[in-house]
Amino acid sequence: MKAIRRFTVRTVLPAAISGLGHLASNLRWSWHEPTAQLFHDLDPDAYQAVGGDPVALLGQFDRAKLDALAADASIVERVTQLTADLDRYLTEPRWCQSLGDTAPKSIAYFSPEYGITAALPQYSGGLGILAGDHLKSASDLGVPIVAVGLLYQAGYFKQALSRDAWQQESYPVLDPDGLPLSLLREADGSPSVVSLPLPDGRHLNAYIWRADVGRVPLLLLDSNIPNNDDAARQITDRLYGGGGDHRLQQELLLGMGGVKALRTFSRLTGAPAPEVFHTNEGHAGFLGIERIRELMDYGLSWGEALTAVRASTVFTTHTPVPAGIDRFQALQVGHFFRAGLAPNVPLESILALGAENYEGGDPATFNMAVMGLRLGQRANGVAKLHGKVSRSMFSGLWSGFDVDEVPIASVTNGVHVPTWVDPKIAEFAATHFGRSAVSDGDWSRAADVDDAELWGLRRELRVQLIEDVRARLRASWIKRGASDAELEWTKNVFDPDVLTIGFARRVPTYKRLTLMLRDPDRLKRILLHPEHPVQIVVAGKSHPADEAGKKMIQDLVRFTDDPEVRHRIVFLPNYDMKMARTLFPGCDVWLNNPLRPLEACGTSGMKAAINGALNLSVLDGWWDEMYDGENGWAIPTAPNGTSSEARDDFEASALYTLIENTVAPRFYGTETTENAGAAGPSEHGTAGTELPHTWIHMIKHTLSDLGPKVSATRMVQDYVNQLYIPATEAGRKASADEFAAARELSHYIDRVRGSFRNVHVEHVESVGIDEEPSLGDTFRINAYVRLADLAPEEVEVQVLSGTVSVNDDLEDTTTHTLELSQPLGEGRFLYSMDMTLNHSGSFGYGVRIVPAHRLLASSAELGLVENAR
Ligand SMILES: *Cc1c(COP(=O)(O)O)cnc(C)c1O
Repeated sequence: MKAIRRFTVRTVLPAAISGLGHLASNLRWSWHEPTAQLFHDLDPDAYQAVGGDPVALLGQFDRAKLDALAADASIVERVTQLTADLDRYLTEPRWCQSLGDTAPKSIAYFSPEYGITAALPQYSGGLGILAGDHLKSASDLGVPIVAVGLLYQAGYFKQALSRDAWQQESYPVLDPDGLPLSLLREADGSPSVVSLPLPDGRHLNAYIWRADVGRVPLLLLDSNIPNNDDAARQITDRLYGGGGDHRLQQELLLGMGGVKALRTFSRLTGAPAPEVFHTNEGHAGFLGIERIRELMDYGLSWGEALTAVRASTVFTTHTPVPAGIDRFQALQVGHFFRAGLAPNVPLESILALGAENYEGGDPATFNMAVMGLRLGQRANGVAKLHGKVSRSMFSGLWSGFDVDEVPIASVTNGVHVPTWVDPKIAEFAATHFGRSAVSDGDWSRAADVDDAELWGLRRELRVQLIEDVRARLRASWIKRGASDAELEWTKNVFDPDVLTIGFARRVPTYKRLTLMLRDPDRLKRILLHPEHPVQIVVAGKSHPADEAGKKMIQDLVRFTDDPEVRHRIVFLPNYDMKMARTLFPGCDVWLNNPLRPLEACGTSGMKAAINGALNLSVLDGWWDEMYDGENGWAIPTAPNGTSSEARDDFEASALYTLIENTVAPRFYGTETTENAGAAGPSEHGTAGTELPHTWIHMIKHTLSDLGPKVSATRMVQDYVNQLYIPATEAGRKASADEFAAARELSHYIDRVRGSFRNVHVEHVESVGIDEEPSLGDTFRINAYVRLADLAPEEVEVQVLSGTVSVNDDLEDTTTHTLELSQPLGEGRFLYSMDMTLNHSGSFGYGVRIVPAHRLLASSAELGLVENAR
């Protein structure tokens, strides 16, 4: 029989342990080990069965169980103490409070996915987990973020394998009432609703669920509600499910609905309005249109509203892979906006924001990353190399400027250490360096630790992984149709004393899951080497629509199925945060071999590093800036211009050679240099007496030196200092006195755009310089410029000096500002400066005119420049 009504009966906790409700509903338990341990101890078997989800655990307890817990004095004591600890954590002043009024009062953070815990599966990979880590570190630092996202009914898919190794997807539906969420409600108890008009008189409505990530509220919009028609209910069905209209409506809801949700949240809770809006990748970009709509309803013009919104918006781009960027048909975007999403906002202006009106662009396309860059006065990539690649990728928006002047900075990603460090490592660090060191990722005294003790700990972590590998492998084979009797061998898969290499990530082509299979016989020899064998654990989901990715998984799994090697290489289905937390600490080496420079940052290697694993990676993303020769190994990249087949051959071969000659011998302490005079290699599998001191030194160096650099504490502080504070300042200036400055800047921009075609550098002289100048010589530069109807203070006349390449390009340039020395009448002016030659070798300079206004963030911002010819 089908139920005709459905209720969710909430657990009523006895007063003595009522704090458990608070502890379960705040997701801080996902990184606060003592709280997680408390829930575990309430009922270890049930905790295991619900996958470590405290809300689900409490939902399982009957009256008798709850009464028994309430009568247990030690449980009551722990609940009381941890509740007080949580309250202190939520209210005490932290780092951001020490910044005073320069810090923003509130920051809105938008992301299409959040990876906070496996119990809230609302992520597909790195982007979401980064967003989760950002919120957690912001919470730890007291940075006042309010986050916005969507609540997907099925989240991302669960992965299994068929008998013939083909990826199978399933979409278990989540019940929001069983998740650590609460519904935002109006004073009368009814759920708050945000609503967007759709074509044909329809509406897209959504409830707002709230999760608490420590101090950070996370608002998730859910369209699966009774107010919606069936089609609208499906909009938040899955993460990255459909394409086209479905995806566009998800993004309209996230961006525009998200701003409405924030306004509702402030109205209901009294929370301050956000001063900065941060869009984590382009998907949420429509938030800028909703803010422009608000300001135009208030009375600002399009240009004034855009200027005010830009001042307080930060845009982070996450991918140098064109397929990773959201694009829609401009017609399709127009169709939805005509339904009245922003009735006072001119549609052609909205469409112009996403237009690819630059060389190589498609005029019919609406590009979400391009809109993101035009809506954010400040933008960044997620590693130094990625910043550089992004400046080049988007340079068409700033044509006329050198690529390194494109205003896209970089903030290198980091990982939330308390989430990703294994409790055993944390305990070890706490014993040796004190509690606070753990949360700060401070291993600066790692060098003092006894080698044998550290090596023993690493072995424990490997053993912990091996147990998980065996259990998961067995479960996977049972799903693939094997019987118990056939699976005896899985009990002996992997060896606690064998060098363990991990590789786990999503499976887009550029990450090259199967590079290691380039020469299968050579890989086999590496796995089965008699003195220094290797075991490899692999995991990763392919996007459901990506057949090439599924084929790569199949090729890999078929290799692992071979009885000759199946004890040394495994593929584990359904890579997620839960698996990751055992996997990273248990591996000795973390492998990463993308096609450089397509990995924007990569964070799994960081998570491995903070657990004492060494990275073996192509110099891409974060590794390009943080590899130092002692913290792991760099896989060489084939020279530019190598064909893709030859490139895979080259890089795979380099990878094999590194493992054979360097990595494996060093792990077993049998490197020839180190081993001079020592007795032959100890038989693996027996407790070797000789410790691999060079390897252990590399672990200590990784923990002490790399640990703090890859911490999300460092990342969030960088965001606050380099982006949030400047955006707060710019936003405050722009909005003060009824938006006086935004109006002023907007009028300036209109004027300067109109006049710039008439601005010219007419003539430049170098006065007092020899044919063969010497170091230390000084000469005068005079630039005669025509400014048409612009005033001298509305522009800057600059000299860029530097070395000159063979094709006359200036390199390593320094920018100097010329002084106005004389008006010449009729809009003409003389600008001058004295230049001293303080470098020998080739020298050259150029002169240009750029817009200048105190509210611009950079000379390049408007993309306007007039270069001397
Ligand atoms: C860290 C992590 C990722 C991202 O890893 P990359 O190295 O950036 O590819 C993906 N999935 C899970 C489960 C993770 O923990």
